[in-house]
Amino acid sequence: MSSSPSKPANKNSSARHRSATHRFKPGNRDWRKQTVAAPVVRTAPTQIADDSGSARIFLKSEKEKSLLRRHPWIFSGAIASIHGAPQAGDTVQVFSADNQFLAHAAYNAHSQISGRVWSWQADEMIDADFFERKIASAISTRHALNLSRDSNGVRLIHAESDGLPGLIVDQYDDVLVLQLGSSGVDFWRDTIADVLQKLCSPRCIYERSDSDGREREGLPPVTGVLRGELPADLSIVENGLRFGVDIAAGQKTGFYLDQRDNRALTGQFTQDKDVLNCFCYTGGFSLYALRGGAKSVLSTDSSEEALAMAQRNVAANNLDANKAEWQCADVFAALRKLRDQNRKFDVIILDPPKFAPTAAFAEKAARAYKDINLLGFKLLRPGGLLFTYSCSGGITDDLFQKIIAGAALDAGVDAQIVKKLHASADHPVLMSFPEGAYLKGLMLRVS
Ligand code: SAH
Repeated sequence: MSSSPSKPANKNSSARHRSATHRFKPGNRDWRKQTVAAPVVRTAPTQIADDSGSARIFLKSEKEKSLLRRHPWIFSGAIASIHGAPQAGDTVQVFSADNQFLAHAAYNAHSQISGRVWSWQADEMIDADFFERKIASAISTRHALNLSRDSNGVRLIHAESDGLPGLIVDQYDDVLVLQLGSSGVDFWRDTIADVLQKLCSPRCIYERSDSDGREREGLPPVTGVLRGELPADLSIVENGLRFGVDIAAGQKTGFYLDQRDNRALTGQFTQDKDVLNCFCYTGGFSLYALRGGAKSVLSTDSSEEALAMAQRNVAANNLDANKAEWQCADVFAALRKLRDQNRKFDVIILDPPKFAPTAAFAEKAARAYKDINLLGFKLLRPGGLLFTYSCSGGITDDLFQKIIAGAALDAGVDAQIVKKLHASADHPVLMSFPEGAYLKGLMLRVS
């Protein structure tokens, strides 16, 4: 574990990555063959993996179509019949109405998503070797990104997009944080922890299975140490900046790794600027802005703990604390106050929490996004930049852009899209699973 700012960034981490990759056995199925989109060919399998004890699910007629496009979810309404008595998390075989094998999937009667696909290959067993192949594949994808040169906080496994529905694994230096968001991965908890221990040799594996999604799966929240010992103080280096990470009590798994590239981008536009960072959490964008030479950075969040950590982060990086102002407030109210005070900024960041976890919340969320963005536009000086985000699964890229266009119109500003923004490359999106692209953002310039 590293906590000293003077320690060379991620030395241990890159070594661990290398050893993990070396341990990936070439004899295993080549991961590239698994991830390259194969043409959908419906052939009757000659051999089905010997899990003959497992239950079989038969879909209603026509309901196999999304599976044939390799979308990994089976909704409860698509199921015609179940042969056997599968429990939550059990592996089942999925068949079309005309008895064609489609997939091996994890079953969960408590969720609207009653099946999540493990494998499209009839002869593939879902066992410890399966998890080792999948996890090794995800690790080698991250290794190829070469992130570890100057960042040692990495998303190692991005759920469905890495072929492991519901499984998030974030690496913070030599600690892994596991989030089990589906009954399938919940069932395989110990196997997954064993494989991660074997491939990554972390100092600690900590479980943060307390996301909202678990409730929808009928699973209770679970948190705590799974392997090793949790270090008292944990920090990561990101693009040369050090951030404390509270994996036990922080938000999500402790840090918002998805914004790494976007934080670095913002830092390039802050020289001599007045910056407003809304929903700042532990100061991510604020620290990059300070390092980028900002004249002033006002940061707002409703979490006192996050703001305290943000201030420690400024000190740990020897940045000028006099240029940073921290405000514990509700952003919706804080923006109105700034408007009434006639304050103006050159750069504004709006990175709110998930307003719409699913499409059902989209309308209400759209009003909230429009509100903060309209106020943001009004606080910008001419030529100013707005970096605005949505991490809501229920809001599409198109809808987000429309909402922001409406906000600009109502604010009476002309805004140009300078760049469309997404999560960092360690959050890849499986092409057959567009839901994986939950984070969308726009870099806008007002005239
Ligand atoms: N930009 C941050 C991540 C933001 S996460 C980063 O780069 O790390 C969203 C943040 O919004 C959380 O820190 C949460 O505490 C805060 N938050 C949620 N609702 C809020 C509200 N109404 N007003 C202010 N902050 C809020």
